[in-house]
Amino acid sequence: MSEPAIIRPDKQTFLAEENPFEAMMERFDHAAKLLNLDPGLYKVLRNPEKQIIVSVPIVRDNGEVEVYTGYRVLYNTSRGPAKGGIRFDLNVTLEEVTALAAWMTWKCALVNIPFGGSKGGVVCDPSAMSMAELERVTRRYTSGIIETLGPDSDVPAPDVNTNERVMAWIMDTYSMHHRHTVTAVVTGKPVAMGGSLGRREATGRGCMIVTREALAQLGMSIVGAKVAVQGFGNVGSIAAELMAQAGATIVAVSDKSTALHNPHGLDVPDMMRWVREKRQLAGYPKGETITHDQVLTVDCDVLIPAATENVISRKNAPHIKAKIICEGANGPTSAAADKILEDKGVFVIPDILANAGGVTVSYFEWVQDRGGYFWDEETVNRRLESIMVRSFSEVMAMAARHKVANRVASYMLAIDRVAAMHRLRGMYA
Ligand code: NAD
Repeated sequence: MSEPAIIRPDKQTFLAEENPFEAMMERFDHAAKLLNLDPGLYKVLRNPEKQIIVSVPIVRDNGEVEVYTGYRVLYNTSRGPAKGGIRFDLNVTLEEVTALAAWMTWKCALVNIPFGGSKGGVVCDPSAMSMAELERVTRRYTSGIIETLGPDSDVPAPDVNTNERVMAWIMDTYSMHHRHTVTAVVTGKPVAMGGSLGRREATGRGCMIVTREALAQLGMSIVGAKVAVQGFGNVGSIAAELMAQAGATIVAVSDKSTALHNPHGLDVPDMMRWVREKRQLAGYPKGETITHDQVLTVDCDVLIPAATENVISRKNAPHIKAKIICEGANGPTSAAADKILEDKGVFVIPDILANAGGVTVSYFEWVQDRGGYFWDEETVNRRLESIMVRSFSEVMAMAARHKVANRVASYMLAIDRVAAMHRLRGMYA
């Protein structure tokens, strides 16, 4: 038996209160209405530009042929090349990929980077594949969608169950077909092959920056702020680490394996070391074990859901004590919970703003690859800071002007930018 190529996370235990993607399009509708978007443009923006379905046949290690299904959806490219991740998962569907591509369109527009939105996926179980099989799936899928890929047309990145190794194979396959090396065709690559310094930390860093801005907006400081973090992976652990460095007290943290609490502050670097060694938080001794749900409702100023979708529901929202929720994960709050949080006066930093640091530094990676000139980490972080701070204040201004919640304001800002580009370009017919 060969080793599994990528360890697949356990299935989520949360019962979905609603389909997060339908919820996202509902929010799109709401924002479009407030913007008085004309009916023609509304129809254009509610439909994906291009949906590709490819068959991905490979020979497995035992000699048998297996055929997988792959998707790539370009939702909107009016503002620039499409940008969006590729996931390998049994739950991938065309509908989900389309919605995620729409999500990317709004996120890139919100932080005003010159990209449209896309997403892709292969319906497969990478935990049941060897590394060689995973490579064959990646290369065959890449060749199936190769006409749409390219630094000027569609630029993938890692997503669920894909990583920098997979991006390296995509970059190589594309480059072999084009007979020259094209590093800018993917982002999230290893730094040694044109990846950007600071990309790994970018999403967590973005969360820290907008949380600091939100605290200032409420007249509070990050120094001494009490923070609870759900999820201790790439986003959650880095957000917690940077918040602690800035003076916050991390009072609760969870991952899939456990949830820990210490009102006097958990030692984040120590926990990161533990997880690097043991691959999970379970067994970490310097904190009191609490339930997973208690992390969300613990006494704190800031809650950072950075694990998965739909975790803040109508059931637990009434019990949340945080004044600020920074949505590190995509879609962690259901629409029903949104309403409850709004009534309670909780300051929500919506996902398309809170976790946009990742795609922003992906944009920097693409810029560096195209320019063939690489920035030091300090430059990456400074430019990320400037985009996140500007985007935060633009959302605040939109929310104040239209007297709407931050989430609606973010969608309004993003949709307005995409619509403006369509108006300027006109309709090609
Ligand atoms: P990751 O796989 O590195 O980490 C996920 C963490 O969440 C792990 O610690 C896991 O144990 C934990 N987790 C999973 N289910 C949980 C549960 N039920 N309760 C508590 N903890 C749980 O993933 P990541 O890259 O940190 O991404 C987290 C979220 O952020 C996802 O929604 C992802 O789409 C979103 N996001 C990530 C990036 C990025 O750059 N990594 C960018 C934008 C959005």
